[in-house]
Amino acid sequence: MSIQTEPCQYCGSQQVEQPWTLCQTCRRTYAKTLHQLRRNMQLLQRVALHEYKLGEPGAGSKPQGGEAPAPVNMHAIDLLDEVESLLQDAWYDAGFVWSDKWQLLIPRMQTHLAWLCRACNAGRFLRRLIRMSRRIEPYVDRRPRTRRIIGVCPECGREIQAAKGESLLLCKCGNPINVQQLREQSRDKAEAIHLTKTPAGMSQWLKDNYGYEVSRKQISNWLNRGKLPSSKPVDGGYWEFNIREILALAMGSSGRPA
Ligand SMILES: [Zn+2]
Ligand SMILES: [Zn+2]
Repeated sequence: MSIQTEPCQYCGSQQVEQPWTLCQTCRRTYAKTLHQLRRNMQLLQRVALHEYKLGEPGAGSKPQGGEAPAPVNMHAIDLLDEVESLLQDAWYDAGFVWSDKWQLLIPRMQTHLAWLCRACNAGRFLRRLIRMSRRIEPYVDRRPRTRRIIGVCPECGREIQAAKGESLLLCKCGNPINVQQLREQSRDKAEAIHLTKTPAGMSQWLKDNYGYEVSRKQISNWLNRGKLPSSKPVDGGYWEFNIREILALAMGSSGRPA
C-alpha cells in the first residue's frame, strides 16, 4: 500500500502523509494557538466577571449611573461565547461527539492535538482560531507601551491612560473602561484635561457629568484662594479649568455624588 500525500491544509507548501492534514510546522502552530487562546480567554473572562460583579445589585457596588458599562461587559461575554462555539466546531470536526465549556475543552484539545491535526477541515479551523486569538488580544494586552491620558473614569474620576490599540481597560476602582467610548466622550467634553467655563458653568458641568453638587460660589472661592493653581483665567469671567484639579476638590468637598 503506497502512502498518499497531500499539501498541508494550512500552509499549503508542505506535503503531508495521511492521515495528517497539517504539516509538522502547522501542528506546532496549532498547539501555540490553543495555548495563546486559553491564556487570552482567561484574561478576558476576568474582565467579564469583574463587570458582572459591578452590575449585580447587592454586591456592594453603587448603583450604576446613566453610563452603565453593560455594553462592554456584554461584548466580552459575546466574544467568549463566539470562541467557545468555534472551538467546539473544531472539536466536532476532529470526530468527537461530545463537547464541553472552553475551560475544559481547550486542555482536552491540547492533549488530543494529533486528532485535531488530522481533522477534515483542520486548516480552516486553525485559520479561524488564529484570527479569533488576534481579536481578543487588544482586550487583554498588557505590554508596556506609550500611554496617553484619554479622560477620567466616570465612576471615580481617576485619570485613565490608554495605549494605541487598547480597547478595554479596568480602572483601579474596578470600573470597566471602553477606551474608544471614553476618548469620544472626553473629546466631546473638550480635550479631556482642560475645560473653559465660568464658575457657574463648571458647577453645572460637575453636576451633569459626575453628580457632584458644588456651588458656583464654592468654585469661585477655590479660584480666589489659589486652590486651583493650574486653572487660568481667560476673558469675560471664563476660566480654563484643569479637570483633574477641580475633580479632586469636588470629590473631597461636602457635595456628594447624586
Ligand atoms: Zn503546514
Ligand atoms: Zn475609576
